[in-house]
Amino acid sequence: MALKKEKSKSDPSRKDKVDHRVLGKQLDLFSFHDVAPGTVFWHGNGMIIWRELEKYFRSKLDQENYEEVSTPIMVKKDLFEKSGHWTHFKKNMFTLVVNNETYVLKPMNCPGSALIYSSRIRSYRDLPLRLSEITDRLHRNELSGTLGGLLRVRQMTQDDAHIYARPEQIESEIQGLIRLVKEFYSNFDMPLSFNFATKPKDAMGDPKLWEKAERALEAVLKKSRVKYKIQPKDGTFYGPKIDINVTDSQNREWTIATIQLDFQMPERFKLEYIDEDGSRKRPVMIHRAILGTFERFIGILIEHYQGALPFWLMPIQVAILPITDKIKTYGLSIEQKLKKEGLRVFVDARNETIGKKIREAELKKIPYILVIGDDEVKKKGVNIRKRGEKKQKFMKIDAFIKGILKERSPR
Ligand code: ZN
Repeated sequence: MALKKEKSKSDPSRKDKVDHRVLGKQLDLFSFHDVAPGTVFWHGNGMIIWRELEKYFRSKLDQENYEEVSTPIMVKKDLFEKSGHWTHFKKNMFTLVVNNETYVLKPMNCPGSALIYSSRIRSYRDLPLRLSEITDRLHRNELSGTLGGLLRVRQMTQDDAHIYARPEQIESEIQGLIRLVKEFYSNFDMPLSFNFATKPKDAMGDPKLWEKAERALEAVLKKSRVKYKIQPKDGTFYGPKIDINVTDSQNREWTIATIQLDFQMPERFKLEYIDEDGSRKRPVMIHRAILGTFERFIGILIEHYQGALPFWLMPIQVAILPITDKIKTYGLSIEQKLKKEGLRVFVDARNETIGKKIREAELKKIPYILVIGDDEVKKKGVNIRKRGEKKQKFMKIDAFIKGILKERSPR
């Protein structure tokens, strides 16, 4: 389904757009409670969306030879002193004192990942080493006034990865990452644009490496045939970066994905690999996130689709509505068939009018509503109302299943 873009902020239809917090309640996805400001309580339906996204990334990570790792959430502040974050990021970190020592709830995964890299001797043959970390919660102390639903939270989970590469591998790694980004976003009707941020004034590290890296990044952007803007001197002090923006159905632009080169962290953690000639060399570290954080991304998706998420992400994919109680058994038999195929189904067997059942299923944005009466039982089929379509149609049950199975997986 292609989404129509709204022209301007004053577009009157904008007012009809519903906030993700309202939709989250309507679809029973999540809630917030005063006891944990800026932190999400995920309900069963919300976790289905989360797990489907995670499943997508796991399948890609396997294809792309990543290793999935997990590092502690609570670590001594020493780790962040070593990484330099303690100096720059201290006010955003949650700390706690345990046995007279200061611990931090990690605001990012990078330093922990670097410790895994340094835990053994690495050879040039081990590189690129791609370590992904997609399950650990990060904590950042955002001011309470700036918190807003899923879009700004204090506890978040990134689809994070750190890639350790030899300098000559930068280009091919970045190329792979841009391909992943394009593949992922092709599932969501969200146009992409790229920003390429180059060497800032306070840059650290070998100027030759900077030059080489910038050339590699730009070469990939050109080859990938994507729209990109150069933002001169806007890179981080530790390396150049590519930020990826998406435009949603309300014509808002979000910076979600990022690919950052880092020459500093390998220095600070003295990361090395043994090169072909036996000499010790320093790898380049690439930080990357494709959906950013699960929390914010799900918030953006809910507003982008106004709750009517793509079929593979919907908590309930098919609703079966028997017109009378007599037909309930037939409904349950269809439910079994669909469940066997791994689909998420709901049978509304309540003693309510069919009109009310349909209205409620529509409010839940369920992609397929199957109404069954005596006629459907006789003909061994279902009466289908597809989300967003006015026309209903009759189909034999097997033909219906065959059709929707195609929608089950993302690209
Ligand atoms: Zn990182």
